[in-house]
Amino acid sequence: MRIDILTLFPEMFVGPMTESILKRAAEERIIEIHTHNIRDFATGKHRQVDDTPYGGGAGMVMKADIVVGAIEGVIEQGQKGKREKGHNETNQSIRGNDSISQLPHRIYLSPRGKRLTQIKVEKLAKHDWLLLLCGHYEGIDQRVIDGWIDEEISIGDYVLTGGELPAMVLVDAVARHIPGVLGKEESAGEESFSKALKRKREYPHYTRPEEFRGMRVPDVLLSGHHKKIGEWRATKLS
Ligand code: SAM
Repeated sequence: MRIDILTLFPEMFVGPMTESILKRAAEERIIEIHTHNIRDFATGKHRQVDDTPYGGGAGMVMKADIVVGAIEGVIEQGQKGKREKGHNETNQSIRGNDSISQLPHRIYLSPRGKRLTQIKVEKLAKHDWLLLLCGHYEGIDQRVIDGWIDEEISIGDYVLTGGELPAMVLVDAVARHIPGVLGKEESAGEESFSKALKRKREYPHYTRPEEFRGMRVPDVLLSGHHKKIGEWRATKLS
């Protein structure tokens, strides 16, 4: 999967996107994450990306011409990258790029969006190209959302200063569902909200020692009786 992230603060992604499971996924080229600074698409002496809102009010609004220029520029870069990749693959007689989307699924992270859920995460993981737009200040000119965005997604009913943390949350959650990203010992199949657990919250976990400060591991988990363990775990789903 290719993920393009448009932000005013690309440095924020260093760390969360370059450690642990996401780092391994990038090294193995299962996920390709490209961050782009929206300011690089700003023109004029001051490279201004925002302006005061029509109708008045506090705060600044990110400008439609700059943000649309960034979206279109990034899509063009991505299409070029995909064409080159497809070309190399064809040369190696693997396969052409017919199945690769020519346009990314474009998401604006916004508190006004639809709440991100596990079901939505699983659906997003089926795309081969995502474009994530991070807002700042008061948000983005509505015309960008109306003309260039497929859906608005919120990570919860609270307001953050920017779309960067929501974008990281979305990438992390989606990555877990891309084949090959999780190692054998980890699995997205039986987790809270998964289909396998009937979309419920998972059962509790314990590890050694059997007793810790007077608190014992439930006997059934020490019994080795798999059917009973399964039944006990089913009773603990919530
Ligand atoms: N004026 C906006 C409102 O009241 O809905 C809030 C703007 S917020 C300060 C700046 C940016 O942070 C937004 O454009 C969005 O990209 C991001 N953001 C803030 N909270 C978010 C949330 N809960 N989910 C997703 N994105 C969020």
